[in-house]
Amino acid sequence: MGQKSSPHDPSPRPSAHYRCVGVGVGPANLSLASLLHRYPEVPNLFLDRREAFGWHDSQQIPGTTLQVSLFKDLVSLSDPTNAFSFLSYLHDQGRMYHYLNAQFDSVPRKEFRNYLEWASRRNENIAFGETVAEVGFEDGVFTVGTDRRRVTADNIVIGVGSRPWVPPQAQGLLGDTQFHVNEYLERAGDLAGKRVVVVGGGQSGAEAVLDLVSRPHDRLPRQVCWISRRRSYFPIDDSPFTNDFYMPSHSDYFYGLPAEDRAAFNTEHILSSDGISESTLRDLYQKVYMHRFVDGDPRLVRLQPNREVTGVTGANGGSGPWDITVRHNADAGSTEHHEADVVVWATGFRPAPMDFLAPIADRLEREGDELRVDQDFAAQWDGPLDRNIFVQNAVRGQRGLADLNLSLNAWRSSRIAGRLRGVHSDEQLPSFIEWSSKTAKESWSAS
Ligand SMILES: Cc1cc2nc3c(=O)[nH]c(=O)nc-3n(C[C@H](O)[C@H](O)[C@H](O)COP(=O)(O)OP(=O)(O)OC[C@H]3O[C@@H](n4cnc5c(N)ncnc54)[C@H](O)[C@@H]3O)c2cc1C
Repeated sequence: MGQKSSPHDPSPRPSAHYRCVGVGVGPANLSLASLLHRYPEVPNLFLDRREAFGWHDSQQIPGTTLQVSLFKDLVSLSDPTNAFSFLSYLHDQGRMYHYLNAQFDSVPRKEFRNYLEWASRRNENIAFGETVAEVGFEDGVFTVGTDRRRVTADNIVIGVGSRPWVPPQAQGLLGDTQFHVNEYLERAGDLAGKRVVVVGGGQSGAEAVLDLVSRPHDRLPRQVCWISRRRSYFPIDDSPFTNDFYMPSHSDYFYGLPAEDRAAFNTEHILSSDGISESTLRDLYQKVYMHRFVDGDPRLVRLQPNREVTGVTGANGGSGPWDITVRHNADAGSTEHHEADVVVWATGFRPAPMDFLAPIADRLEREGDELRVDQDFAAQWDGPLDRNIFVQNAVRGQRGLADLNLSLNAWRSSRIAGRLRGVHSDEQLPSFIEWSSKTAKESWSAS
């Protein structure tokens, strides 16, 4: 069936039937495509609207690294002998020893991106340059309409990721001198002598500030101001017991909690996912020290946490310079102003819309803004039980902070693959921690 047709074929078969069609080829669906590759009895096709593979390409700032272990690649944590692992990539490229000898503290982000691209190139079930415009349901199968063809499928797997978000004050003002950090490499090349304001106190904001203040003297901005809503610039919590939140057993425990407990948990532990790598913080602190005390540039960096940008106005028909109004969180009546030539919004991402589901939207159950999913990430709906729409990286409210992260990619995909193949996927042992009173009773009475 579709398994045989090459995705790189410029004229794909106009209609075909698959056991599973994936929408989007980021790390989430690429993981599933990699796990399914060894099962020809599950014909599958994964489509992405990009012309070629990309992974946050404009945030591949030199020196940035992965924030998780290299074992959290596409497959290793659920299928360690799979041919699409990071180790297989290194081996295929002949660089196993070099990688070891380089002694990276973490995988360079660009090397991980290259690995992902390698995995996408080796998989003939993946097609780029094809936008999924519509998913419907007719005669017992899903219909998938793209800008190039129409195919049918028993199951759909959505992995459309997230899109950049800026606060309302910035919406409508974006362009060359005011942009989201996901366009950083395209737009922040030459900022010599400029006044730059970076808004957002997470990893992306920190990386932008570090890059700006690390430029050679003749390419340095005149000033870099870093504004964050958080009280300071906080690190990611990467300690052992916190990392147990990023295990399958915790995802399952979390799923069974009442909705208000899940929401409170995500708020309380946000820094386990959205904090800044300690190495980035250390590099940044050392740069500030050098500029302030050693290199004679004491006014280069301004650090302003615990503040909220309340307004942005621009001269010259909206091309800047910009007047940024800021309120201190501990002093509601306060107002500070910054003049900026360039504003970088590192204000995060929000789930990408799934407009292509419009034909069946009223058949799907929801929980708040999310599709309500079962234990295998299948959206609850009124259709046949053996026809499902799975969602990857889109149910943080139901599955916790790990849902958006690379940590559980391989496990979540193996659950979905297991359901598609009608087998129960293998699970690793649960956490040392007895998350619920139920597991505590079960584990001690069994021992
Ligand atoms: C700069 C950056 C660094 C990160 N680093 C880490 C890290 O080190 N560790 C970690 O755990 N997490 C990290 N993350 C978080 C997360 O792992 C990534 O955002 C990851 O890319 C999410 O994967 P995804 O497949 O869900 O979505 P995405 O990577 O966003 O991929 C979604 C894909 O869907 C496609 N698409 C959307 N709509 C359609 C459509 N209608 N038809 C066809 N295709 C469509 C898009 O073109 C896109 O290619 C990082 C995030 C960012 C922004």
